[in-house]
Amino acid sequence: MEDPRTPTPQDLETLSRQLGRPVRDVVEIGARCVCGNPLVATTAPRLGNGIPFPTTFYLTHPIITSAVSRLEAAGVMTEMTERLERDPELAAAYREAHEDYLRVRDEIGARTGVGPVPEIAGVSAGGMPTRVKCLHVLVGHSLAVGPGVNPLGDEALDGIAEWWTKDRCYCDGAWDVAGPAPAKDLSRHTKTQGLSPEELEAKKAERRRAAEEEPAGEHGAPAHGAPEQEEGAR
Ligand SMILES: [Zn+2]
Repeated sequence: MEDPRTPTPQDLETLSRQLGRPVRDVVEIGARCVCGNPLVATTAPRLGNGIPFPTTFYLTHPIITSAVSRLEAAGVMTEMTERLERDPELAAAYREAHEDYLRVRDEIGARTGVGPVPEIAGVSAGGMPTRVKCLHVLVGHSLAVGPGVNPLGDEALDGIAEWWTKDRCYCDGAWDVAGPAPAKDLSRHTKTQGLSPEELEAKKAERRRAAEEEPAGEHGAPAHGAPEQEEGAR
């Protein structure tokens, strides 16, 4: 039996359409819609170019990412961080979520042949273990490992229930399916040259999305983003 986490070529194409850009270093699909489409891309803890990459789970479904952005814009991260400071029980559960994140990332590294990545040992993502700096990271973690592990990721999922719930498919019309998928040439060298109109449009859409997703200016770019965002900064 094929591991359902293993990305198919179709999955990778869907991811690039969801994000409006090619994806790289995606080793597994962390969570799927009831229809089978990817919700979360799982990135290798070390990229193909050797760079350690702490942010393992990345939300890709546009309906979920924009819903989570709404929570962020409403100040939910500040409120959660304050609760962590005064609620020892929540703080302990969140620290355990951080430990789980590290453990799962190690497992993914082992399972996918990446091996240990000592440079990021003890470093998770999203502000864990003591702060909340990116809800997308926490929701990605919750979706990938299931409920009961990341209390604040679970809470954020409850918070977006009016826009997205896991028991329903919200894929229809959620991303552009017409025309070619964003270019599959993943070479860093061709990144800024000879872009087609579609690619230029996709890049613009990506910038709009990034601007929409980071209203607080709080997110550390490398911890928040997928590897392609790091590349975009070059
Ligand atoms: Zn779906």
